[in-house]
Parts: sequence; structure tokens; C-alpha cells
Amino acid sequence: MTDTRISLAGVLGNPVAHSRSPRLFRHWLTRYDLAGYYVPIPVAEADLEQVVRTLPAMGFAGINVTIPYKEAVLEVADLVTDRATLIGAANTIIFRRDGKIHADNTDGYGFIANLQQNAPSWKPDNGPAAVLGAGGAARAVLTSLIEVGVKEILLSNRTRPRADALRAEFGSRITVVDWVQAGNMLEAATTVVNTTSLGMTGQPELRVPLDGLRSDAVVTDLVYSPLQTRLLREAKEIGCTTVDGLGMLLHQAVPGFERWFGVRPVVDDDTRAAVLE
Ligand code: NAP
Repeated sequence: MTDTRISLAGVLGNPVAHSRSPRLFRHWLTRYDLAGYYVPIPVAEADLEQVVRTLPAMGFAGINVTIPYKEAVLEVADLVTDRATLIGAANTIIFRRDGKIHADNTDGYGFIANLQQNAPSWKPDNGPAAVLGAGGAARAVLTSLIEVGVKEILLSNRTRPRADALRAEFGSRITVVDWVQAGNMLEAATTVVNTTSLGMTGQPELRVPLDGLRSDAVVTDLVYSPLQTRLLREAKEIGCTTVDGLGMLLHQAVPGFERWFGVRPVVDDDTRAAVLE
């Protein structure tokens, strides 16, 4: 018998009303003329496990997971991919036909795919990478930089022990630099990544001095609101190739969409426009 069910997926978090994912998935469903729905799923912490376990019975093929449940959802999963284990969080859950709940993390994939699309000359062996920040997003960035073969990573965070802990976990390719010295580490870097929330609307500006920034560096900011952060604006003036954070958000959704709706979607200017509407 043919499976005539309409695919269902969604984004689970608390709150989720702000999420751009429903707009993104609607855009792709329309573009590829697919029957399917992608809905926001707001869930209270006490109900997390019960809701996740019930969704497959309601016909959901999978869900994206956002703040504050990216870590907690690992506890509910039956299988966790290596990259989600390394990152310590999941953003994509697949409800398998055998009933198993499979947790993955596609943030690192999205980060690298965004760089490759928008800075095509970027290569892992271009030189050292400088990473600002040591929170959840930094874990995904570090995991993916190491996975694609970047040999040297300079890491700086306001709270140094968090950066030291990442070095202890991810290994000797990482050198920790004091936050007050963060400007100096840019002199060697051919890739610069802001993974802090600084520069985001409503947050203070990132004030690391950029005088040492190389004009051949690729500079990317995970912050995507605003799209052009001060870091990206100033780096562009120096002559750097700059990549905004929206592409990472779009690319991280590609594996889930393909899995749940059967088409590998393309990220292009129309996709960006649809999400920014
Ligand atoms: P997080 O776990 O809360 O980490 C926040 C980071 O920002 C920490 O390194 C923190 O340093 C630093 N920070 C915050 N306020 C600071 C300040 N006043 N001075 C210096 N450092 C400060 O958050 P996250 O999940 O990693 O997210 C970080 C940013 O990435 C957010 O803006 C988020 O929207 C963005 N993001 C974007 C994507 C995308 O797809 N583009 C994906 C994930 C995240 P301390 O350790 O010292 O507190």
C-alpha cells in the first residue's frame, strides 16, 4: 500500500513564536510544490519528554529543536549522532519508522555550508581561525572547523574558563587567548568567527579592536539580526570577505527538510528574502 500521509514537521521550543523556521519551510514547501506542514510547537519544560514521545504518533516525521531544549532533548533521544554528542546539543530530531528517536545537530554543517556558498575561496587550510565566544554556538563552530580540517584555532571568550574547558575537550588544535588580547589573535587569522551574542539587536556591540585584521581574511558573524553587524561592516571596509549569519540559519535546516519532505532544498536569494519578509 502506498503511504499517502502528508508529512508533518515543526520547531519545538519555548518561546517559538519568534522562530523564522516556519516561514523558511513554507517557502520551500511552496517552491517544490510539496504537500506538508511545518508548525511552531511551544512546550513547557515539564511536558518536553511527553510531547516529543507523542509527536510520532500524531504523524510527525521530525522536528527542529530550539532554545531552551537543545541540550535536554538529548536525554529523550534513543540515538544521538557523533556530532550532536560532541556539540552536546541537538537541533534536528528524526522520528524513525522503527520508533526510535534520532537526535542530530546540523548547526556545524550550516556554518560550513554558509561559508562555502558565500566565500567560495574559503578553504580549511587557508590558515588559522580565530573564534570569539565559547557558548553553545561556539561548540558547533569548533566541531565543524576541526571536522573539515582547520589545523589551528585561536579561541577567546570573556569568561576564560569556558574557553579553557573547550580546549580541554576539543584538543590541542585550540589555543586560548585572553579576552583582553582578542584583537591580537586576529593578526594571524585567515578566518574570523563571532559566536558571541555581541552585536545582536538589544545587546552591546562587539568591541574587539580590528586594526590587526588581515584584508585577505574571511570574517563571519553568527549574529543575523542585524544582518550587517558592526564587525562585518568594519571588516568589509578593511577589504575582508564577509559572510552574515543568516545563511547558517538557512543551511542548518536543509538536512531536516530533505529528510522529512524528500527534496534537498536550495538556499538562494529568494530563500533569504522569504525569511526576511
Ligand atoms: P550562549 O551559549 O549564551 O553564549 C553566548 C556567548 O556570548 C558566550 O561566549 C558569552 O561569553 C558571550 N557574551 C555574551 N555577552 C557578552 C558580553 N557582554 N561580553 C562578552 N561576551 C559576551 O549563546 P549561543 O547559543 O552560543 O549563541 C550566541 C549567538 O549566536 C547568538 O547571537 C545566537 O543568535 C547566534 N546563533 C546564530 C546561529 C545561526 O544559525 N546564525 C546559530 C546559533 C547561534 P561568556 O561565556 O563570558 O558569558
